[in-house]
Amino acid sequence: MKQKIAIVLALLLALLQTGCSQRPIAAQSFALDTLLSVTLYEGGSMEIAQEALTIADESERVFSARREGAELYAVNEARGGELSASLCRAIEKGLFIAEQSGGAFDIGLGAISSLWNFSGESPSLPDEGALADAVPLSGYEQISLGSNTLAFANDAVQIDLGAIAKGFIGDQMKAYLIENGVSSALLNLGGNIVLIGQKDGGDFAVGIENPNNTSKVAGALFASDICISTSSGAQRYFELDGKRYHHIIDRETGYPADSGLASVTILHKEAAVADALSTACFVLGEERALAFLNEHYPGIHAVFIRSDGSVFATDGTPFKQE
Ligand code: AMP
Ligand code: MG
Repeated sequence: MKQKIAIVLALLLALLQTGCSQRPIAAQSFALDTLLSVTLYEGGSMEIAQEALTIADESERVFSARREGAELYAVNEARGGELSASLCRAIEKGLFIAEQSGGAFDIGLGAISSLWNFSGESPSLPDEGALADAVPLSGYEQISLGSNTLAFANDAVQIDLGAIAKGFIGDQMKAYLIENGVSSALLNLGGNIVLIGQKDGGDFAVGIENPNNTSKVAGALFASDICISTSSGAQRYFELDGKRYHHIIDRETGYPADSGLASVTILHKEAAVADALSTACFVLGEERALAFLNEHYPGIHAVFIRSDGSVFATDGTPFKQE
């Protein structure tokens, strides 16, 4: 329902914009299970914006673990094999951050995440036995990547790139747009924002949704030339017997991470890194996430929204609370 409303709004916006001045140039599409938008403030054209969206469309055929016919789906089915250059790079980046985060972000949890269904009409919990079987066989440690080949250490482990693919694709779209003369733009890939350059010579203002009341914003980030990723327990979930089950999984338990956080937002030059880190920090919880970021990404800007609604931003983060 939410997605349908978003599509209608996007179409209305597009109609309004074609009738008005030429800038910004805005194009939308639906891919990667989410509404994608490209808004160009300087440089490029409508064709360039649409071509950038085509990159996302094509990437879905590479990175989806759920879509039959996608390359990753086939690799999981075939239990490894040769990889395209782009899938290889995404898996390599994913394995690196999985190891760095000690499995808080883990592309090797596909056998667990595929037991969960957050988008069905009548949601139900996964079979407990199947989950208990999948947990010990899952994890990045069970995956080995060669120069362009992949091997799995057991018959159960599967790759899920859901927590990094949108960021990875955002980076590819950004590179394409810059190559084609775009100097100011905002890309939105459901929870992942890519900012190219500045807006009108200043910062972009990017609202961060209040995860405890999604019709409101918690505040805004003022930034330029950076990527912003939010992982939120309010993004995809179902409720059963008064309990909320969201889509960010703790691979140690096989269940949605319950770390006291409602959302985490990370700013990083690379959208793929921001995407993976927001997921990692959500699973780690505030204290462990801050220790992790301090060790591996000192000085990084991040906004943590706790389950009780209180907000914490790391030093220097350009965030203004509502
Ligand atoms: P994100 O919204 O970027 O935090 O990514 C969530 C998506 O990534 C889920 O829909 C799953 O497909 C997958 N996922 C869930 N939990 C994890 C995790 N701990 N590490 C890596 N991927 C995950
Ligand atoms: Mg992510």
